[in-house]
Amino acid sequence: MNFKAMRSMRVCLIFTLLLFGMLPVYVLMNLLVLQHRQYEYETRIQQVREIGRNLTGKIEQNGYLENPSQAELSAELSAMAEAFDGRIFLINRDLVMVKDTAGREEGRTLISGEAIRALGGTEYAGYEKASETVKVILPLHLSGEDKETQVIGALFFYSGTETLATEHRRLGENAALLLVGSFVMILTVTLVVSRMLTRSLRTLSARIDSITESNDGRSLLEGRSFYEVEQIAEAFERMMQRMAATEKSRQEFVSNVSHELKTPLTAIKVLSDSLVLEPDVPIEMYQEFIADINSEIDREAKIVNDLLSLVKLDKTEGEMNLGEVNINKLLETILRRLKPLALKRGIEMTLESYRTVVAQVDEVKLSLVFTNLIENAIKYNRDGGRVMVSLNSDHRYFYVRVEDTGIGIPEEEQGMIFERFYRVDKARSRENGGSGLGLSITKSAVQMHRGAVKVQSVPGVGSIFTVRIPLSFALVVQ
Ligand code: ADP
Repeated sequence: MNFKAMRSMRVCLIFTLLLFGMLPVYVLMNLLVLQHRQYEYETRIQQVREIGRNLTGKIEQNGYLENPSQAELSAELSAMAEAFDGRIFLINRDLVMVKDTAGREEGRTLISGEAIRALGGTEYAGYEKASETVKVILPLHLSGEDKETQVIGALFFYSGTETLATEHRRLGENAALLLVGSFVMILTVTLVVSRMLTRSLRTLSARIDSITESNDGRSLLEGRSFYEVEQIAEAFERMMQRMAATEKSRQEFVSNVSHELKTPLTAIKVLSDSLVLEPDVPIEMYQEFIADINSEIDREAKIVNDLLSLVKLDKTEGEMNLGEVNINKLLETILRRLKPLALKRGIEMTLESYRTVVAQVDEVKLSLVFTNLIENAIKYNRDGGRVMVSLNSDHRYFYVRVEDTGIGIPEEEQGMIFERFYRVDKARSRENGGSGLGLSITKSAVQMHRGAVKVQSVPGVGSIFTVRIPLSFALVVQ
């Protein structure tokens, strides 16, 4: 079964508004109708009792029970009975009906619980639903001083409530009509509001769909919309911009990689062509060209290796192989390894440790970081220059500083050297066998350690690269 329709925002809205809009109206209406009905009946009972009392007074005073032929009072009884759409009858102490405005049962003996209770002095006033009548029964007393005690008969006043019932029915019909009216109104409002709300969302989703098919460069939302929908559109546009930037950098990367890989290949091709095409090439030239081809192959291999390291570093943090590493020892090992390279150019290297630092790091990745920085400090140094490495720490981080007395980096290029394949001086980097990937590898590896790397440099004076890495990987949240 498909519940898509039930999950629709619009259907939800319509149901909710209808339910919560109609329910109070329905309950309130019923309550009002019921209350009004009760009020009407109570008023009728009250009225009948008032008039009944008035009549009993007159009957008692005039001794009507003994002499029911008094025309004036008889007429009044009949008029009252008619006015209240009912009947008045009187019984005497022997339960014999003395007077009946309906004229039907005079002289009959009325034996009923009500009559007996009334002769016992009990008043009764109430509504009987089955017969739709308001009944008031009042005892008649002997006129005189002890009238309260001497019951001589009773007055029965029945009033038909047909008219009240009809009125009540009409009221009910009106209420139902009102209910239907408010249902239609709420439904209309709900439909309109829900349409307005969902239309902008649907437009947005349709635009996203059409952009997925082909991006025509148009904005996601044309014209005004609800604030929240505009926010979604803006967030989506930001995401698209980011994706476009990623795509652009990916394309740049691919074209850079192809270019970088092609350069040594072109050189190899030129060299081998001249050997193949030239007849009678002297052996010395062979040797020289083969040596060149060999170094170009080394270069190609270095680029491929660096690319592989970079790809590995681009993977998630889950790939971190963490362990407690003595950073002092790590730096000493790297310096020892690079010593021959420095000696070749008469460069002096020093390591200054302020304390012993043991940190939770990935040793292989961190080795790449320091090797690249120190190698660069040698490569881009002057002959006979100096490379000074120092290590320090505080309670959260350790700091490694690599300072050289080399060519330096122009200020405007300092922000770019960490980008892939970026070189300040292409020829010099090439001469040094650089791939242009060293610093981007460094930066990725540092970031994987949740650390930071920055550069200060003055052209012609030297450069300082500072790396900051947390001592404990888990403790630092970036
Ligand atoms: P490369 O393989 O060319 O050395 P890197 O990514 O390691 O690539 O460095 C990028 C560029 O930054 C280098 O080509 C160089 O121009 C510049 N650079 C890096 N380190 C230094 C340094 N210590 N002194 C001067 N320039 C540097």
